[in-house]
Parts: sequence; C-alpha cells; structure tokens
Amino acid sequence: MRKRWISLVVTGLLVGGALAPATPALAAPTFRVPFPCGQTWSGQTRSDHSPAYAVDFNRTDDSGDPVVASAPGTVDRVTDLGGTSYGKYVRINHGGGYSTYYAHLSGFNVSVGQTVGYGKVIGWVGSTGGSTGPHLHYEQRLNGADIQVRFNGTLALYWGTKSYTSGNGCSSGSGNGTVDTSGTPLTVRSGPGTGYASVGTVADGTRVTIACQTSGTTVTGTYGTSSIWDRIGSGRFIADAYVYTGSDGYIPGVPRC
Ligand SMILES: [Zn+2]
Repeated sequence: MRKRWISLVVTGLLVGGALAPATPALAAPTFRVPFPCGQTWSGQTRSDHSPAYAVDFNRTDDSGDPVVASAPGTVDRVTDLGGTSYGKYVRINHGGGYSTYYAHLSGFNVSVGQTVGYGKVIGWVGSTGGSTGPHLHYEQRLNGADIQVRFNGTLALYWGTKSYTSGNGCSSGSGNGTVDTSGTPLTVRSGPGTGYASVGTVADGTRVTIACQTSGTTVTGTYGTSSIWDRIGSGRFIADAYVYTGSDGYIPGVPRC
C-alpha cells in the first residue's frame, strides 16, 4: 500500500509501458518463463525426458512457489492423474495450435474455460504424479506435438541446465515492499486472513519479496484499510495494509495468488 495522492501520478506513467503488443492470428505466442516477474529458475532439458523437449524447473525451496501462465490463453485442462504421469496438471490453449503444459503441481488456481494473461498464477509447484521431488515440468506444444521451448523467441538450452530469469507479467518491476508497523513485529499468517494460524513475525522495517497478492480479511494498518494480503513465501501471508509497496492497491505486474 501507499498513500493515495502518489498513486495518481505513478499509475499514469506505468500504464503505457505495461501494454503488450497484440499477438497476430496463428503466429507463435511470445512465451515467457512460467514464474513471476524477476524470479530466476534453473531449467533442465535432457534427451531421455518424456516428451523430449520438456523443461524441468527448480530453484531452492521451490515447493509451493507460484506457477504462472507463460502466455495469454484459455485454460482447457485442469486434471489430476493421481500418482502417475503428470499428476496434477494444467493445459493452456494459446490459439493457433499452440498449448503449454504445467505438471506435478501441488494445487490448482484456475478452472477449465478460464481466460488467463501473462503472470496469472495457475497453480503451485509440487511433486504430484510420477515425480520424485518438487519441480515444474513444462512443455510447449504445436498441434499436440511437443516443440523446442522458446522464451521471448529465444530457444532454450538443448541439452543441459541453464538459468532463466522471468520477464513474465513485469511492468513496474515491483514485487517488493517494506513492512511498516511503527514498531511492533507484524504477524505472518498461513493464509490471507487474520483467522489463519500465525506462522511467525516479520520485524518493522523488513524488506519483503511479494510473490503474489490476493484478497482476504480486511485490515486497518499504517496505510489505511485494505483486504489485500501479500504472499511472502510458501504458506506465508501478511496484511498489505502494513506494507509500503509503492502501489495503492494491487502492485502492477505482481500476479494474483
Ligand atoms: Zn519433466
């Protein structure tokens, strides 16, 4: 949050830069790394992977991290295959025969038929199905056949492991905030509301990284009254009313949880 008088000026400046060009019909979509803006993930390709051109993504302590749509489209599959294969997976139809797959999720945040844009959280990293540890299994397909993955038109590394930094859903580049309670520690909750269990505190003045934001219990804090909650880690939420983010309301470019 921030004080309202600043927002009118800054919001006006940001809008122009946030707009993405329209995708021409049948052209390949501009796919982006399937994680929130600014995050860096290790992506591995290997010739014995099934299918061969899929990418497995990891980073430290990644279980429960948000997975986002890598391009605009319509969710056409939200399926749980149980303990085999993809486990819990989402498929997005991008038009022109292109689709993307997101597998081994721990949970879903979208439903079939839902329209999604860049940066939309579709689920969370998990280890469901035939997976031996948390990671995101990601595919791009054309007319059902898997194709070599490209981000912003640049081919992924085949074969090997490489770091990929997300430019997905970026606009202001802001996914950070500073806790401002005027002294007392701020309670961290396991979900977006005061009814969720306390899972710790963050000290006044702490700089936090906000992975996504969602609506929860209405809280009155340093920056007024708000129902926005900030996800600052796996199962860790704080009330946005106590966080200076530079934005009045939701932060541009930060996904909804
Ligand atoms: Zn895989």
